Amino acid sequence: MGDTPRAIRATITGAVQGVGFRHAVRRRALQLGLAGWVRNGEDGGVLVHAEGSPVALDELIEFLGRGPRLAAVMSLAIDSAKVEGHEQFAIRGVRAGLFVVREHQASTHHFDLRLELAGSMRSWALPKGPSLDPATKRLAVEVEVHELSGALAESESAIVWDRGGYEQGGRVPWPQALDRGHAVFVLHGTKLRGGFALQRTAGGAKPQWLLVKRRDEHARPGSDIVAAQPQSVISGRVLS
Ligand code: MN
Repeated sequence: MGDTPRAIRATITGAVQGVGFRHAVRRRALQLGLAGWVRNGEDGGVLVHAEGSPVALDELIEFLGRGPRLAAVMSLAIDSAKVEGHEQFAIRGVRAGLFVVREHQASTHHFDLRLELAGSMRSWALPKGPSLDPATKRLAVEVEVHELSGALAESESAIVWDRGGYEQGGRVPWPQALDRGHAVFVLHGTKLRGGFALQRTAGGAKPQWLLVKRRDEHARPGSDIVAAQPQSVISGRVLS
């Protein structure tokens, strides 16, 4: 049937970055009822994944060949792709906010993972800290939301073990992704880089999640980043 969803991957080259291309593609895709994502490529081009009705995809492809007014498209390559079940059309590769991992010696020793969302910090306590090994699933107990102010403060009992910007990923927009218990994100820290996923395994007052490194070029199978790099990224201090 003509209405069976299809998916495409598009690669656009030319003068296509810094000209409003991503926002224009997103606007057009939303008008056409398409889902997927658009991102700037490292080579100066633009990459698009779009899925939905074939008629709407044809319209989007026509738009991609032109681009917005200030763009000069040199080439457009279209490959068919797998329908992935996206529920949004997102601009990827954009900083969503600050992430912080603190090492904290309280009544028990643990790490705190914090992600900036809507002006505050969603927070998880990790008894063993994060890992760059995709085979290692680390327990992350969700705790109360913290204020953004003071996120990078250190004290006698806490250091900033890592920090940087993060990107929201996945097929579902945030914060719904967190509400539904599966959130994918990309960290741009000093020690933690690349894709991670938080998967909720139990609800209740203190929901339990698993933090897992995704398999990408930043994954380090067999590594133990917490043991290898114990120092604060702000003060260089090691929590004794
Ligand atoms: Mn803590």
